[in-house]
Amino acid sequence: MDFDYSPQEDAFRQELRSWLEANPADNYDPETFEIIDQEERFQIKFDWQKKLHGAGWVGIHWPQEYGGRGATSMEHSSCRQARARVPAPGLASPLGISLVGPTLMHWGTEEQKERFVPRILSAEELWCQGYSEPGSGSDLASLQTRAVDDGDDFVVNGQKVWTSFAHKADYCILVARTDPDAPKHKGLSYLLVDMHAPGVTVRPLVQISGDAEFNEVFFEDVRVPKANLVGERNNGWQVAITTLMFERANFGMVYNLEPMLDRLKAGLKDLEVHGQPATDDPDVRQRLAAFHIEIQALKLGGYRQLTQQLRGDARGRGGSISKLAGSGRYLRMAHVAMELLGPYSQCALGEAQGIDNGFWARRALGSRLYTIAGGTSEIMRNIVGERVLRLPKG
Ligand SMILES: Cc1cc2nc3c(=O)[nH]c(=O)nc-3n(C[C@H](O)[C@H](O)[C@H](O)COP(=O)(O)OP(=O)(O)OC[C@H]3O[C@@H](n4cnc5c(N)ncnc54)[C@H](O)[C@@H]3O)c2cc1C
Repeated sequence: MDFDYSPQEDAFRQELRSWLEANPADNYDPETFEIIDQEERFQIKFDWQKKLHGAGWVGIHWPQEYGGRGATSMEHSSCRQARARVPAPGLASPLGISLVGPTLMHWGTEEQKERFVPRILSAEELWCQGYSEPGSGSDLASLQTRAVDDGDDFVVNGQKVWTSFAHKADYCILVARTDPDAPKHKGLSYLLVDMHAPGVTVRPLVQISGDAEFNEVFFEDVRVPKANLVGERNNGWQVAITTLMFERANFGMVYNLEPMLDRLKAGLKDLEVHGQPATDDPDVRQRLAAFHIEIQALKLGGYRQLTQQLRGDARGRGGSISKLAGSGRYLRMAHVAMELLGPYSQCALGEAQGIDNGFWARRALGSRLYTIAGGTSEIMRNIVGERVLRLPKG
């Protein structure tokens, strides 16, 4: 791979950087953002997505006819890097952008693309992902939510769980069983369900961090028009896997790991070990160096995937490797930070005595989720072993 940007790509990066410098997110203070009320945080993210979208910086590599800019994969990648480098609040519709839009672009009918994709970019409609059920997480194909054919509609009954952002969502990508007699991977369908339809009930679940961003969702005789079926009926497994591939690629998080390591280094400068800044201590330096090397390796792996994509190989095998390695690194960095900060690690976000304002306590509480959501690390290891390395099944 050629690591240099072309003049066109350089100009694109410069344009974005200048825009980001001139247009910070409204009402956003990185030091207090995670302390403020969940609703306030949502509003800041919503306003930020609107602002980015207004300037054409959301979904930039999506086709222009659906509201994107038709940017190249390289431009998209450098855009993600640049965005991760500025303090910004994240988007109001992360699942719509990273999962639903790309899946619809791949499998959706022309009507579905025109109807849904532009509203995903503009945050006019927010989305959630209705896959997991009580008893069906890793073994997703064992799910029991049913969708029964009834005239122009399917009628959905069942329960989902861990549904992130369902309390804000207007629509849900729902995987439901349409043929209970078929083998478990064959009788599923992929539906776009209106979360405001009669019969949908959302109940928030509180997380270890105190936030309540995921939910239980109940479907009771919910009518879903057949026009909202994505892909073929009973062939929803293929569509669902496409979404999971986009999700796993997204969980690689290498863009976020570098700024996180920089933040750890900066925080440790305020901490003394044997009368000197912690960053001068040989043991601490070795640990930081190890993270630096691992992140560089992840980054190069990401570039290799990008090169494969640019050469037309979009199989996305690397997504599982990135997710496994990226989420593991995030978890370990948060835990090493807790260990190094010692008693200071117990200070919650916003406590004045905390090093770096209690940032790492918050990170440690949130770090486990990445090794579970979108497929656990154990499942990722199975996939890498069987499908990437072609090892025999255990
Ligand atoms: C923060 C968060 C957000 C989430 N958001 C969503 C969402 O928006 N939508 C959604 O649909 N789901 C969501 N999930 C659910 C997530 O996808 C599931 O939790 C995950 O797939 C694991 O399923 P499970 O919880 O049922 O665990 P289980 O499948 O019951 O697994 C329990 C343990 O057994 C291990 N295990 C299971 N099978 C195997 C195997 N074959 N080999 C080796 N080990 C195995 C697992 O790795 C795990 O450690 C979210 C989860 C979290 C934590």
